[in-house]
Amino acid sequence: MKYQQNWNNDVFYKDIEDAQILVDIEDLQKQSEAIGKHAEIFVDYLNAKPLRAWDDMVCEQLRTVYMALDITSPKLHNLSVFVHSVATIDSGNVTAKKLISIMQGLSADLGQAIAPVMVFLTRVDDSFIKQLYKQSFISAYQFKIDYGRQYSAHLLPVDQENLLTAMAQDGLHSWGNLYQELSSVLTADVDGETYGLAKLYNMNSDADRSIREQAWRGTQAAWAGRGETAAAIVNSLNGWRIQARKKRSTAKEYHYLDEAVRSGHISRKTLDAMMSATYKRRGVGHRALKAMQNHLKYDDMKPWDTSAPAPVKTETTYSFDEAIDLIAKCFAEFNPEMGEFAIMMAEKGWIDAEPTEARRTGAYCTSFSKPREPRVFMTFEGTMNNVTTLAHELGHAWHVWVMRDMHDVANEYPMTLAETASIFAENLVRDYLFNNAKTHDDKLTLAWNDASSAMVMLNNIPARYDFERNLVEGRINGFVTEGELVSHTQDAWAKWYEDSLTEYDQYFWATKLHFSISDLGFYNYPYLFGYLFSLGVYQLKDQMGEAFNAMYTGLLRDTGSMTAEQVVMKHLGKDIETEAFWNNSLDMVEKMISDFESLEVK
Ligand SMILES: [Zn+2]
Repeated sequence: MKYQQNWNNDVFYKDIEDAQILVDIEDLQKQSEAIGKHAEIFVDYLNAKPLRAWDDMVCEQLRTVYMALDITSPKLHNLSVFVHSVATIDSGNVTAKKLISIMQGLSADLGQAIAPVMVFLTRVDDSFIKQLYKQSFISAYQFKIDYGRQYSAHLLPVDQENLLTAMAQDGLHSWGNLYQELSSVLTADVDGETYGLAKLYNMNSDADRSIREQAWRGTQAAWAGRGETAAAIVNSLNGWRIQARKKRSTAKEYHYLDEAVRSGHISRKTLDAMMSATYKRRGVGHRALKAMQNHLKYDDMKPWDTSAPAPVKTETTYSFDEAIDLIAKCFAEFNPEMGEFAIMMAEKGWIDAEPTEARRTGAYCTSFSKPREPRVFMTFEGTMNNVTTLAHELGHAWHVWVMRDMHDVANEYPMTLAETASIFAENLVRDYLFNNAKTHDDKLTLAWNDASSAMVMLNNIPARYDFERNLVEGRINGFVTEGELVSHTQDAWAKWYEDSLTEYDQYFWATKLHFSISDLGFYNYPYLFGYLFSLGVYQLKDQMGEAFNAMYTGLLRDTGSMTAEQVVMKHLGKDIETEAFWNNSLDMVEKMISDFESLEVK
């Protein structure tokens, strides 16, 4: 073994029992309280009419708050990342679980402490902001403040905002928790054995069609058995949001799509252009599904076939060391520094990939704040898909790395732009593997991934989006019954899948966690955005040649300090509010599907 396969986080804490953790928690509590005290005066400022004007005193008060925040936030972040990292590797760790809830409390406290200042800055006039921006302590926060000011018409008075936040704990968020609770107890039988939903989910990609069908039908039946509760959850979440938006609409209408695009840092025009371009090309997704069907030799495709694995007999496997060397080689061909970076990640113990017992499933990239160091988590078992997943996560890590000298706030990029570097890195490796594949099975495995991504992105994600729109529209007029939820799902599936599937996923509104996340709605369009956008960037790599690398790094560095429209206009000179931009990426998807279609069926 050349490389480390487990995290080394000693720089931060020895282990989860490290006495320093409790010391730091106490410190953080004190710091957060102190910030709250400094921020208190801004409640008075907010209540004053007219609003407090700019002068040296308010400048000093703001400086005190932001300087303190710049010390407290990274500390809080570091500890939180550390605690989560332990819980990821040792999912039953009781100490970690307790600390996670303490950390959540701490960030909520800090958020509330700072709230009056944030609200104040969204309400002051432009001349105040102009003076403020002359101060260096605020420069990193400018985009965040400007972006918040765009939504200032939808802000409520401070006491109402605070009431809403406080009520949400046992109101809005309880519904999300109830969903989690239910999904941890529901079960279904496959071949006479009883399984929980997480196990059933893994069976969705079993090579045996009958296992997949039983797992799918079992999951649907389990949720249908609790259909009224599941319906109550999505109705309550959306009912809450509708009421809140109504309150926020007194000065100017706050449409649910305005709220949906806000966290993605995109405009509604961009969302419309992307969805409309994708709708016209939904057939590409159908072709992907059809080609999968040909390889599977099925008469038709059912919902449980959409996640079937590639029908291959043998697959090339890789050791962890081989995977790192291969990824580093592919990265280095594009940019030598990026290649060295992949090696460094593995040498320093910044990747945890060993298939151990108590670890969680899935893969992700996170990063500590000070010093800014990325960490990658996944479970590496040697498959080619593991190699591309590792490349994907290392791509995220590279994004963190090229921004390591920047302020924390500039690193808060939205989900829409977060996938740019990861899919880009994944493609570098995917293309190398595809061009150098020695067997038909290896080619099929890679092309299969392309096809299933295309189907998910061009059909499934937009169907989720349309379903959610129908849900919200329906909820505005009253309670949406279980039967109506089923029929909205059927309609959305019919619109996007047409007859490429011979049965639709009618309880998807209940089986999919995403509709029951209390923090935000429309947790779907950013996936499509990230996928198409990163393909568009990747395509420019060969077109731009030498100039690409600098442009690419510049683009990544701006992802947290501009809207998506501005980032693309500045670095690519392109307008994402037009369908033409999206069509360009959709052409690439179509090309990949054509390649897949030309693969011989064995
Ligand atoms: Zn990702």
